Amino acid sequence: MIVLVVNCGSSSIKYQLFEMPERRVIAKGLVERIGNEGSALVYEHDGKKSTLEQPIPDHDAGVELILQALVSPNDGVIKDIDEIKAVGHRVVHGGEAFTGSVLINDEVIASIEKVADLAPLHNPPNLTGIRATQHAMPNVPQIACFDTAFHNTIPQVAYMYALPYELYEKFGIRRYGFHGTSHRWVARRAAEMLGKDKYDINCITCHLGNGSSIAAVRDGKSVDTSMGLTPLEGVVMGTRSGDIDPAILFYLADKGYSVADLNKLCNKQSGVLGLSGSSNDMRTLGEKAKAGDDRAQLALDVFAYRIKKYIGTYTAVLGKLDAVVFTGGIGENAADIRAAICGNLDQIGIELDTALNNGASGEATVSSGNSRVAVLVIPTNEEAAIAVDTYQMSQP
Ligand code: ADP
Repeated sequence: MIVLVVNCGSSSIKYQLFEMPERRVIAKGLVERIGNEGSALVYEHDGKKSTLEQPIPDHDAGVELILQALVSPNDGVIKDIDEIKAVGHRVVHGGEAFTGSVLINDEVIASIEKVADLAPLHNPPNLTGIRATQHAMPNVPQIACFDTAFHNTIPQVAYMYALPYELYEKFGIRRYGFHGTSHRWVARRAAEMLGKDKYDINCITCHLGNGSSIAAVRDGKSVDTSMGLTPLEGVVMGTRSGDIDPAILFYLADKGYSVADLNKLCNKQSGVLGLSGSSNDMRTLGEKAKAGDDRAQLALDVFAYRIKKYIGTYTAVLGKLDAVVFTGGIGENAADIRAAICGNLDQIGIELDTALNNGASGEATVSSGNSRVAVLVIPTNEEAAIAVDTYQMSQP
């Protein structure tokens, strides 16, 4: 069965076409700069890369172009659009309504619209993508997979902020958490690697990419996570501050910063970029630090220190801990950062093996034989996770 996975942004559509249940990727690509100059479809069919530059005025045109490329007599990968039996969409915010992926209907669309002001940069383009694929393939089931859904098992004690309770009732202000598809995928895979049932694992999953978040998983279910109402809370990220004293914002407001300034400051100008003053990219910062750039080193140190704090906190939350899992561009590739995070944690049973850690590639166990807690590197695969959900939900 062929499943299309779509991740729609405000001016882009990322997609992968899967053969299921084998999870074989038969095509993938990206429509970029929709509605702007230089718009193009960049795609890969059977490992061969191509670019189609042409005006793409809106998302409907983007979806049409993707489908044309998929069935192209020259280099297409399927004969007919009808071969696509289901479409899975990444949707960032599901609010409190969804505990898992769902078949999209009018009610689901209304729910996604209802929480759009909690994710103004993501939910509206996600909906645009859903509508565009509905236009193009009206008879094909469409499934929504939410970044928030895995975290819907977080108990009230962990999701409530200590603000007046009415703000939760009136505006839905609470912790929702994000990257749920990734946390769930690696937690399930960690259970498999340890020979455990998926509901019999306690782990801390660290998704470390441009955006980063940590989740505490008890018995296979998320019980706490570092991102909150929005993806700004938690650990230090590429350009986001993560946790700060909220009074800093009042202080800066008194100094003349507007709400828009503060939003930009915390989301776009902070994190390792703000600390280093030079880059949001961890590879670049690693090179600069090696060359003697103290601020780059400081950014790397603060990044690792904050994650270490979350691991300590979540160890206390979970009580029993089977594994710490690293994933995302940084978690999967940066051995030195994993070492900095896990250093001096032997008191809580976490001990890396330097050679295994340095040599890790793909899925790997990087803890030492003495480590009470397994430390695992597991590549995330959010598209495959969405494809699996979409496949399962569209079975008769
Ligand atoms: P996104 O959140 O945008 O999906 P990724 O998961 O791709 O981001 O992660 C991007 C980050 O991963 C960048 O900071 C990049 O420098 C970092 N990264 C990728 N490869 C390496 C590496 N070999 N060593 C250190 N950092 C790396």
